[in-house]
Amino acid sequence: MGDGRADPRRRVPRTDALLAEPRLGAAAARIGRDRVKAAVRQAQDRARRGEIDPEEVPDAALAALPPAAPRAVLNATGVLLHTNLGRAALSDAAVAAVVAAAGHTDVELDLGTGRRARRGRDALDALAAAVPSAEAVHVVNNGAAALVLAATALAADAEIVVSRGELVEIGDGFRLPDLLASTGARLREVGTTNRTTVADYAAAIGPRTGFLLKVHPSNFRVTGFTSAVPVRRLADLGVPVVADIGSGLLAPDPLLPDEPDAASTLRAGAALVTASGDKLLGGPQAGLLLGTAELVERLRRHPLARALRVDKLTLAALAATLGDPATPTRTALHVDAAALRGRTERLRDALAADGRKIEVVPAVAVVGGGGAPGVELDSWALSLPERYAAALRTGDPPVLGRVARGRLLLDLRCVPEHADAEVRAAVLAVPGDD
Ligand SMILES: *Cc1c(COP(=O)(O)O)cnc(C)c1O
Repeated sequence: MGDGRADPRRRVPRTDALLAEPRLGAAAARIGRDRVKAAVRQAQDRARRGEIDPEEVPDAALAALPPAAPRAVLNATGVLLHTNLGRAALSDAAVAAVVAAAGHTDVELDLGTGRRARRGRDALDALAAAVPSAEAVHVVNNGAAALVLAATALAADAEIVVSRGELVEIGDGFRLPDLLASTGARLREVGTTNRTTVADYAAAIGPRTGFLLKVHPSNFRVTGFTSAVPVRRLADLGVPVVADIGSGLLAPDPLLPDEPDAASTLRAGAALVTASGDKLLGGPQAGLLLGTAELVERLRRHPLARALRVDKLTLAALAATLGDPATPTRTALHVDAAALRGRTERLRDALAADGRKIEVVPAVAVVGGGGAPGVELDSWALSLPERYAAALRTGDPPVLGRVARGRLLLDLRCVPEHADAEVRAAVLAVPGDD
C-alpha cells in the first residue's frame, strides 16, 4: 500500500488484554470464559480481515455475545402480575434472602442442637403466623401442584364435587378439570355454568365423595342471572371443603373487595385453602396449602409431596416476603394515583427538555395474572406513537408498554421509581420524529 499506515493487523488487541477489559470480564463471570473467548476470537478475525477497526474489537465481541437469559425488563404495561413477565417481582428483602440461601444453608438443620430440622421452618412459621386461622400449613411448587397434591391425597379413587361454573381454564391451555382428572380423582360436576345451588352440592354428596371443591374464577366474571354457593354454606354439608382461592391474598384487601383471602376462607369453614405464592402475595412461585392439622398432615405424608417439594431459594424468598409484606406487587397495587400522575409528569417534563413532546394521559391498570378480574385501577401513562413499542421492547433494558388505539402507553405503576431514568434513556434512544 505504501501509504505509511501501520498494518491494522498489528493493532488488533491481544486476547488476554481483551479478556481483562471490564465489560468482557464481567461477561466472562456471567456466561463463562470460553464463550467470551470465542466471541473475542471472532471479533479479532474480523479486524484482521479489515471488516472492523481494531478499536472496535471489544464492542464487536460484546455485541456477539449471547444475551443474558432471562433478561430483566421494565414492566410499564400497567398489568401488575403479567404472566409473560414472570408475575410478581420479588422484594429487595426476598432477593437478598435468595442470594444468602444460594450457598449451603441450614434449610434442614437446627444449628443449636446440630440435629435435622423441619425443612423450610422459617417460611412455614411465617405463613402460619400470617394466617392464624390455619391450624397447619405446607408449601409446594406452585398453585397447580397444591391442587394436584390435595386431589391425589384426599380424593384419588373418590369424587371431587365441583360446580360447572368453576371448571376454569387458567391460561395457556391449563384447564383445572384436566389437571384434577389426571390425578385419578373423578369429577362430579354439579349445577350449570351460571347457577349452582347448595341443593346441587347436597344431592351429589355420597359415600364416594372426597371433598367439595370451590374454585375462584380468577380471570373472568360471570354477570347477570348467576348464583354461586359461598364456602360458608358448603361447610355445613359435612364433607371437607377445599377452596382454591388462586391469588394468594392472605387477608382481605379493601381495594379488592371480591378477591377471596386465605384467612376469611378458613374462617368461613374451608378445611383446606390452596393459593399461589407469586400472585397478590408478591412472593416467589409457590403453592400455599393452609388448613386443618389433619388434612395438611395427610398431604405432607403423601409420597407425591416429595416430588412437589420447593427448593431452598423459594423457601428463603417466601420467608422474606412474609416477613415484610411491602412487596413490589403490593406497592404497585396501592399506588396513590395523584402521586403516580406527578411522577409521570416529571418524566414527561424531563423528556420535553430533551426535545421529546409526549403527553400524559389517564390510563387503567389491572391486576392480571389470575386475580381480581374486572378491577380497574385508576392510573396514568405516557402516550407515545405506536412505533415506539417494538423499539423499546428490543432495547436495553427492554421496556414493555401497552398498545391501545394506535398509541403506546407507558404506565409507571409497576416500574420501580429508581428506574425512571432508565425509561427516559430508553425513550431517547428511539430516533425521534424529526
Ligand atoms: C393461578 C391459579 C391457579 C394456578 O396456580 P399456579 O401457581 O399458576 O400453578 C390455580 N387456580 C386458580 C384459581 C388460579 O388463579
